[in-house]
Amino acid sequence: MVSKEQIVELMARYFPKCPICGSSDGWEASGTVVKCVQCKSCGAKWASKDFIKCEKLKELELWEASKDERGLDLLHKTHPTEFWQQLEPEDEITIDKRKLFLHEDMNDADIENAIKRYQARAIRFSKTLGATPILLAAIRGVPVIESTKAMLLASIVETNKIIILQNELILRSLKKLNK
Ligand SMILES: [Zn+2]
Repeated sequence: MVSKEQIVELMARYFPKCPICGSSDGWEASGTVVKCVQCKSCGAKWASKDFIKCEKLKELELWEASKDERGLDLLHKTHPTEFWQQLEPEDEITIDKRKLFLHEDMNDADIENAIKRYQARAIRFSKTLGATPILLAAIRGVPVIESTKAMLLASIVETNKIIILQNELILRSLKKLNK
């Protein structure tokens, strides 16, 4: 029986760095039925039939993407070791929280103000729906149908934001009730 330490050692020999995130934090063995190796940094999991013998690592399957979903396009694909070694790691996706239209630091008043803002925008888009496409067609030669579609989409996006924000307010009042 091959031990978890042996699997980790084999993986580290071929992969000092994680192919998905580029971290050298190392590997952790997991799984009882399917032996997997997991990156300690991003959480991407790997499986290989070569883990059974643990002599040479010829091929590897990405068993699970990283916790922030890097590597999704390569999920459940088996490739030769060389393929994974040559793969460019993906940068971590960082999100500037302040740019999100909803984040946990917003208080109820912030959310209510945001709802008003998006309502005003949605109304503006639908009000100008007839006029703007005709204007754009006259000035820039944009086909009326195309700018009508764009205006409708913009209006739907604003409306969706309103629904999400309203849901957040409902959720918050439900939580208060439960206390
Ligand atoms: Zn990783």
